[in-house]
Amino acid sequence: MLQSVIGQEYAIAALQGALSRDRLPGTYLFTGPEHVGKSRAACELAKAINCLTPPKPGECCDACRSCRAIDAGTHPDVRTVAPVGPSRTLRIPQFWPREGVKEHPADRAMLRDLQYAPVSAKRRVFIVEDAEAMGEDTANSLLKVLEEPPRYALFILTAPGTGAVLPTIASRSLAIRFRLAPPVLIENALREKGLSADRAHFLAAYSQGRVGRAFTLADQPALLSGRDAMLDIAERITSMPPQITAFRLAEDLRKVAGKFNADQKEDGEDKSQRTNIARALDVLMLWYGDLVALATIGPEASLVNTDRADQLATAAGRFKPASLERSVRLLLDSRRYIERNANAQIALETLLTQLLAAPHGRRATA
Ligand SMILES: [Zn+2]
Repeated sequence: MLQSVIGQEYAIAALQGALSRDRLPGTYLFTGPEHVGKSRAACELAKAINCLTPPKPGECCDACRSCRAIDAGTHPDVRTVAPVGPSRTLRIPQFWPREGVKEHPADRAMLRDLQYAPVSAKRRVFIVEDAEAMGEDTANSLLKVLEEPPRYALFILTAPGTGAVLPTIASRSLAIRFRLAPPVLIENALREKGLSADRAHFLAAYSQGRVGRAFTLADQPALLSGRDAMLDIAERITSMPPQITAFRLAEDLRKVAGKFNADQKEDGEDKSQRTNIARALDVLMLWYGDLVALATIGPEASLVNTDRADQLATAAGRFKPASLERSVRLLLDSRRYIERNANAQIALETLLTQLLAAPHGRRATA
C-alpha cells in the first residue's frame, strides 16, 4: 500500500489524489535522496493502479493476482530497469531491443512491445530507477517516447533531483519530491518489525532519514561490521594513548576499509579501494559530528551513534569545540583529496597525524 511508504505523507497524498481523480500524468519523476522509498512508492503506485480488488479507490489489496505479481516482479505490464555493470549506467539495449548484446537480450528490453496495450493491467507501468545514470544517447532515446507516451503507459523515473536528468526529460515529467524521513517514524517501523528498543533507536539515528537503509541494516547486521571496526579506530584516535602512531592507524584504517567492500560497482581495484577508504572516513566523520554536537550542545545533543554514547561522552570531554570543528574540516578535505585520486596512504597518514595533534585538554582551559 502506498501508505506503507514511511515518512512521505506529501508525496503519497499527491499520488493518491491523482489516482483517485484519475489524473495520472504520462511521466512521473520521483526525486529525493537515496533509500528514502522512491522505488518502493513506484511499485506501490503500480499496484494501486492495477489492483483487481482495491479496498478503496486509490488503494491496493496486496493479495490479488496483480498485486502479488507486481511485488514479485513478474507482472508482464509492470517493468523496471536499473543501472547495471561496472560503470553503473543505464544503456539503450535495456530499453530498446538490440540484437547481439549479450548482457541485455533483445527479448528482455523494457520497451520491446510498447505499441501494444496492456495484457491484463489497466495501465502499463515502466519504472526507470536512478534515471540520472542514463547517458545522453539513452536519455534521448527515451525522450522520444516521453514526448508522446501511449495513453495506456505510465513512466516513473527516479533521480536525486530534477537537475540530475536532461532538462528536456524533466520538463515532460511531473516531479514528486521525497524527503528524509523523521527518525522517530523509522524507529517506530523498526519496533513494529520486532527490533528491540535500543536497536531500533540506533538504526533510526544511524540511517539518517533513509528508511530503506535502516531496513537493510536491520536485515543484514553484517553490513555494520565495517562501521563497528571503524568506530573502534575512531575511539583510539580520540582517546590518544601516547604510543599510537599515524602510520599504524593508517594501516589499520586501510584494513578496516576493506570491510566496506560492497563495491563491485566501481571500476578497478584502485578506485574501489579509494571508495572504501572514503566510506570509512564517512564513519569517522559521523563520530566527529557526534563529538562536536556533545561539545557544543551538551549531553542532550541528539547523536547518530547512539550505541556508543558513553565512549562519545568521554571523548568529547577531552576536546574544545573549536578543535573538534577543525578536525571535521580536515576530514572533509582529506576525503575530497582521496576521492580525487590522491595517494590514499599519504593522505591518510597526513590526516591522522593532524587528528592526533588536535589540541585537547578542554577542562584545563575552560
Ligand atoms: Zn490487489
